[in-house]
Amino acid sequence: MRPPSFSPPSHQARHLKPSLCDFSFRLCLAHGFGCSLSSLAPLEAILFDIDGTLCDSDPFHYHAFYEMLQEVSFNGGVPITEEFFMEKIHGKHNDQLCGILFPDWDFERAIKFMNNKEAMFRRLAAENLQPLNGLKKLCQWIEDRSLKRAAVTNAPRPNAELLISMLSLADFFEIVILGNECERAKPFPDPYLKGLRALEVSPKHTFAFEDSVSGIKARGCSWDSSGGISYKEH
Ligand SMILES: [Mg+2]
Repeated sequence: MRPPSFSPPSHQARHLKPSLCDFSFRLCLAHGFGCSLSSLAPLEAILFDIDGTLCDSDPFHYHAFYEMLQEVSFNGGVPITEEFFMEKIHGKHNDQLCGILFPDWDFERAIKFMNNKEAMFRRLAAENLQPLNGLKKLCQWIEDRSLKRAAVTNAPRPNAELLISMLSLADFFEIVILGNECERAKPFPDPYLKGLRALEVSPKHTFAFEDSVSGIKARGCSWDSSGGISYKEH
């Protein structure tokens, strides 16, 4: 059984479909959240989350969870909803999800489920993944200014490598920081702090793209009041 096509829950509609094509609009949005690029001058580095900020991969995560949770009779076999996915699952590290989704399972069983889910996600993404509108233009803008750049993600390495490769960004990022390889994944600030250290830049001169509550919390712990925008507020 295939899940219904994914669309953001209605309360997110005002934040539009993720797009990078109108960067100036995004800067206006940033001003609306009390942050601006001018406050980061001189801008030295850009950090990107991957899922949902380089590509709209959420539908594939939702699809994989939708099908696989039914197979293990999660919630009595009742399919999860988009609202449940966005509230309980979106942006969270798999170790954290084991406790959220399967509090009665032992960790080995739960993480095996997560690994199988990631394999299904990669099969879906490999067939269907598309970059966000405007990504190529934004990356060119960043390269033209010789800004430092890193990817900072909670995704496991095979996912991160697949998505970056499919988006032709393997040579774009100087480094890819994985939550798995930090002492604590997002929502803790460790991945962003590791990225800042690796690029040898200050958060005062770095801009970060995030889309999940977990990631925004992590970034918020690493930044002061400026330095990032999100595509979606949940
Ligand atoms: Mg994300």
